Amino acid sequence: MLRPTPQTPIPEETVAAARGAFPNGTLFVWMRDEFEQLYQDEEFADLYADKGQPGWSPWRLALVCIMQYVADLNDRDTADAVRGRIDWKYALGLPLSDPGFHFSLLSEFRNRLLSGGAESRLFDRVLGQFEEKGWLSSGGKQRTDSTHVLSTISERSRLEALHECLRAALNCISEQEPEWLQSWICGDWYQRYGRAIDDYRLPKKPSERTAYIEQIGSDGMVLLEQLWEENAPTRLRQLPIVEHLRQYWVQHFFIDNGKVKLRKQADMPMSGMRSDSPYDPDSRYGNKRSTTWHGYKVHVSETCDPQKVHLITDVRTTPAHVPDIDQTAIIHEALEARGLLPNEHYVDAAYVDAELLVAAQQHYNIELIGPIKADPSWQAKEPGAYDSSYFSINWDEQTVTCPQGHLSKGWTPRVDRDNNPVITVNFSKPVCRDCPVRSLCTHSETYPRSLTLHPQDQQEALQHARTQQQTQPWREKYQIRAGIEGTISQAVVGFGIRNTRYRGLARTRLEHLVSATAINLKRLFAWVNGVPHATTRISRFAALDPQVA
Ligand code: SF4
Repeated sequence: MLRPTPQTPIPEETVAAARGAFPNGTLFVWMRDEFEQLYQDEEFADLYADKGQPGWSPWRLALVCIMQYVADLNDRDTADAVRGRIDWKYALGLPLSDPGFHFSLLSEFRNRLLSGGAESRLFDRVLGQFEEKGWLSSGGKQRTDSTHVLSTISERSRLEALHECLRAALNCISEQEPEWLQSWICGDWYQRYGRAIDDYRLPKKPSERTAYIEQIGSDGMVLLEQLWEENAPTRLRQLPIVEHLRQYWVQHFFIDNGKVKLRKQADMPMSGMRSDSPYDPDSRYGNKRSTTWHGYKVHVSETCDPQKVHLITDVRTTPAHVPDIDQTAIIHEALEARGLLPNEHYVDAAYVDAELLVAAQQHYNIELIGPIKADPSWQAKEPGAYDSSYFSINWDEQTVTCPQGHLSKGWTPRVDRDNNPVITVNFSKPVCRDCPVRSLCTHSETYPRSLTLHPQDQQEALQHARTQQQTQPWREKYQIRAGIEGTISQAVVGFGIRNTRYRGLARTRLEHLVSATAINLKRLFAWVNGVPHATTRISRFAALDPQVA
């Protein structure tokens, strides 16, 4: 049913045209009818405080950002759609003759969101509306997974990356202070850095490549020295690209007897700590199982109760090297802030450990459900050997009884190398030396058996989880997590999140939040129109498995 809103009524001619063109409605028509205005101008007032009233309403620009992702359009085509499509005009409450806006307004609006730290506002506001209308609430089940995101920069060798970094710095300085640069630069620099690295024939022999890189290193060092000369313009030293060059050169080069030398890979900072491109300094090398990439990682959480619509509740974008396990607590914190904490949270092994199992339960009353990594000790892998489950722990007495009935001799709380509290338990040397089943317990010829325990609540949670995950009911319950793969696939195939549209972490995060909002609206529209959830596809061969059937 088409109807105007009290805030910005839809012109009668637009209503009549939309009714005629779309008698059964479209997603955009439904959005207007259902939510009237998804956004309000007041929600973006802080972003416009310095420049007065904008020409185009912020609520409309915010909505256009979402519609752009739903329709998978670039900025120019989006501006054309606002000018020419009836359902867009209906959603935006515009008369049919409205001329729309110049496409650059979209980029300017995104910049305002980013500079105001408001990139999550578009996503959060829509979730708030879902909650108000009862489609989303706390409790129930949610699931999370991550996928890799490739940055726009191309993969480069070290030589290429160093050359491009210096070239980017020279280009930026040429724009800011061309006379200063010309006053000292050598003529052959124009040959070396005048064109992109792809246009050069690079040396093949390792020794020649090293010499070439050290030439680049030496040139970069000269540039940095010049920039820190007294007569150099101060503002050049504050350029982000100059700071990037400085850090990059520290990471890659050192001075030996007055000569610039290339560091060995082993002497460089870990990949997560160094930026490899001047064009996207936030992008990092990442590695997950057999996949390595340069860019980012996005974590998606969604509701997954079978009888309810599945909506994305949290989107988190990080540089590629950040481990999944670091995000679990952050996701719970964000869900709590939105009032959307689940009762059960399904994740894969990368998001769960003993500490998180306990913290999720104690702080948020969430049952974190994911396969705990198996005990890595040899005793756990060898059938019949005494892993920690064979030992009985008396937490009050701070003693452990071994399978042969001997009491431990030492109980030492300490912190491990990751700064986590643990307890080391030792048994008596003479007792273990004479033990008839010693070969099942320890391989050490010299030392008695020792155990490393987590604090009591974590140790018990770990033991319980390891036992549970061996059972068939747990496996069946855990199958619900697999559905998140479909959501990731929808985001990759339908919204192109595998490759970033923009450069930088903040812009990439905005892209993911807008994509998630678009997915949510599409899903909700399908849900209210009675389209059932897609089921997880399995191959014909896998379907023959009696356990699957
Ligand atoms: S080796 Fe030591 S700890 Fe292990 S079962 Fe024998 S006595 Fe007990």
